[in-house]
Amino acid sequence: MKSLVLEEKMKLSLRDFPIEKEEVLGPHDVRIKLHTVGICGSDVHYYTHGGIGVFQVKAPMILGHEASGIVIEKGSAVTGLEPGDRVCMEPGIPDPLSRATRLGLYNVDPAVRFWATPPVHGVLRPTVVHPAAFTFKIPDNVSFAEAAMVEPLAVGVHAATKAQVKPGDIALVIGAGPIGLVTALSALAAGCARVFVSDVDDTKLELAASLGAVTPINVARQDLVQEIHKATDGWGVEIVFECSGSPKAAEGVFDPLCPAGRVVFIGSQTHDIHYSVGKAMVREARVEHVFRYAHVFPRCVAMLASGAIDVRPLITRKFAFDDSVEAFEIAASAPKGEVKMQIELPQ
Ligand SMILES: [Zn+2]
Repeated sequence: MKSLVLEEKMKLSLRDFPIEKEEVLGPHDVRIKLHTVGICGSDVHYYTHGGIGVFQVKAPMILGHEASGIVIEKGSAVTGLEPGDRVCMEPGIPDPLSRATRLGLYNVDPAVRFWATPPVHGVLRPTVVHPAAFTFKIPDNVSFAEAAMVEPLAVGVHAATKAQVKPGDIALVIGAGPIGLVTALSALAAGCARVFVSDVDDTKLELAASLGAVTPINVARQDLVQEIHKATDGWGVEIVFECSGSPKAAEGVFDPLCPAGRVVFIGSQTHDIHYSVGKAMVREARVEHVFRYAHVFPRCVAMLASGAIDVRPLITRKFAFDDSVEAFEIAASAPKGEVKMQIELPQ
């Protein structure tokens, strides 16, 4: 069976790939048959640009890191997972002995090996060997498609955790892409009374508005700060989540923020940006950054299982594995209204 291989920038192929046979099952590992893999903005960026910052594709690499599947084999020391278990996987494997990992900060371990980040292969392929410690069982009422959403959802849950959401907080999420929407869902689940979501795409904003106590703001025709002030008696929002990655949006994060508010930067910025320390200072703003996530996969699974979070409206399109090259071409064209596209592997 084939893998989806990024040969080089703008060149994808579905072909046999030797890594499959080379992977050895260690005592603490499980072998997983992949079921569903979501297409992430980073996968698309590797495809269209051949790299992201210091991570450049120098040899053929399998794409995909948002995945769910079924355990088909377990290592001799694995407890708690059995062949046949339905699972989702955390795609970053840190060095267990590193200082960052020992401090519990494993996501910022400089040695972390993350799927589909060169030179590490992703999982748009038949099977993968993965540490059991980063493999999470999903209950029967959570589908493989939802389970493959746990990875992006984890970013939102980590951001809401960093923001220390309190019941009744009002938040603004800048950007209604997949990460913006999972952040809005996480903020609501964490206790926000209302979440404003800003974007320029009406279809995505409509979807955002359907997710709960969400007020959409189209910044192409509405003034963001004015709208926020109108709705909060001029006070501002307690939390701003920057999910757009737009330098201009990121520079303005303090304008809609209330005194002693919190800002979480989530969207990645290719270049340095400017922000006003003066505006942050007069508000005594707290600024946080997130890099992926840590310790939140079990929480995400629990919220999907209980219904506290429903990610299903975010999955807007599914492709068969045989059509995955086409799926990436479509994803690269950034079609309006599409949020999360997923690929289903043959079972
Ligand atoms: Zn992702």
